[in-house]
Amino acid sequence: MRTHTFATRKEWMAEGKRRYGDALENWKFKCPQCGVVSTGAEFKASGAVPDAMYCECIGRYNKEKGCDWAAYGLFDICTTEVEGMPVFDFA
Ligand SMILES: [Zn+2]
Repeated sequence: MRTHTFATRKEWMAEGKRRYGDALENWKFKCPQCGVVSTGAEFKASGAVPDAMYCECIGRYNKEKGCDWAAYGLFDICTTEVEGMPVFDFA
């Protein structure tokens, strides 16, 4: 069940900026499956594309932490959606 719904990507980006500022490295998202919180900087360091941070668990890139969950997978357990697409929650 969704608890946060953003009608537009622009609204969602505005909320991210309000929380973390302009630098995507400082943004934080929580994996809905394992609960691990990861920053954009961690994703960048793992060689992931910037968009991975809100739809993939860090575990897909770093086996030491997290799991292999993806928001776009067969099962949808995300509580946030943006323009109808499931994404990980801000952390
Ligand atoms: Zn995970």
